[in-house]
Amino acid sequence: MALYSNVMVDNAPEPRYWEKMRLIAEALKSVEGPIYVVAHVDPDGDALGSTLGLYRALKKLGKEAIWIMDPPRFLRFIPKEEEYSDPVEKLPENATLVVMDAGDKDRVYGAPVEGFVINIDHHGSNSRFGQIHVVDPTKPAAAMMAKDLIDLLGVAWDAEIATPVVTGIMTDTGFFRNSNTTPEVFETVAELIGHGVKYAELADRLSWRPPEYFKLLGLVLSTLEFHFNKLAITAHMTRAMVEEAGASLEDSDDFVGLLKTAEGAVVAVFLKEIENGVKVSIRSKGGVSAQRIALKLGGGGHVPAAGATLEGVDLETAKARVLAAVKEELERAGYL
Ligand code: 5GP
Ligand code: MN
Repeated sequence: MALYSNVMVDNAPEPRYWEKMRLIAEALKSVEGPIYVVAHVDPDGDALGSTLGLYRALKKLGKEAIWIMDPPRFLRFIPKEEEYSDPVEKLPENATLVVMDAGDKDRVYGAPVEGFVINIDHHGSNSRFGQIHVVDPTKPAAAMMAKDLIDLLGVAWDAEIATPVVTGIMTDTGFFRNSNTTPEVFETVAELIGHGVKYAELADRLSWRPPEYFKLLGLVLSTLEFHFNKLAITAHMTRAMVEEAGASLEDSDDFVGLLKTAEGAVVAVFLKEIENGVKVSIRSKGGVSAQRIALKLGGGGHVPAAGATLEGVDLETAKARVLAAVKEELERAGYL
């Protein structure tokens, strides 16, 4: 455990992982009331995939499950419309809330974090909220944890349950390219595909982007800059660009992944102008910690992939703050 920028971070594996997962499985099997399944705001493939897999497994168990989700366009082909529900302001007294993949309490989408809360996550910066929390930052995806939980629930796997779980693993490992792509990832995915997942179709469908995406990318690429001897690369997006391209904010979700491929760069930062400030996405490698940079900016995440939201500032101010934090981290890692 370490204190980074006043936030407690623990990137160590959860020593009681299986004990806690068994406890969660038993609790979910025995609870009488409704089970609400939620993830983090701005859901990605792992947020959607881990929660949809668990939701479908709970339904198959005969449980009253409610999945609160607003699927982004590129993932909308996975759930059926009748499966996802709108946010709720209050939970019934006898409800259980399962939160997956949410780095912290204030990043939870769609339900108040109250009552009986089960927190399943893989972000080291997670504050370990909830009555039962199993936070294991060595897990490549929350979907890997969903896989273990569904096994423990004793639900018979089928393609409907396996497909979102595979999706979460694919997207959080950057399609099996990130440093979290462990042997267990391939073993798990091999097993899950065996339940009838149409893998090639899924991989192809996940890579589809609308025409507006390409227009927006063109505008964003014109803002590309290299810093600190090309060790860092940045790009930004204004709201005017989104409008000009006729795109939506989420169309830029994977731009930072593209920046990360710049030869020689160990930090990639993408800054997005949002309604009340700037959303920053950070990726790192080579001993540099995106997590440390994000924490300096009031955010959080994983060592190689993290983010922060800077409220009430313009792009220029945000960029200056980000570059100062990047410089400090490059110095700490011995690059400068
Ligand atoms: P992304 O850059 O793709 O939005 O997020 C990368 C990682 O950082 C994700 O695991 C996400 O949960 C985390 N993250 C992104 N933005 C924030 C933020 O504002 N606060 C915290 N605590 N984590 C964030
Ligand atoms: Mn995740």
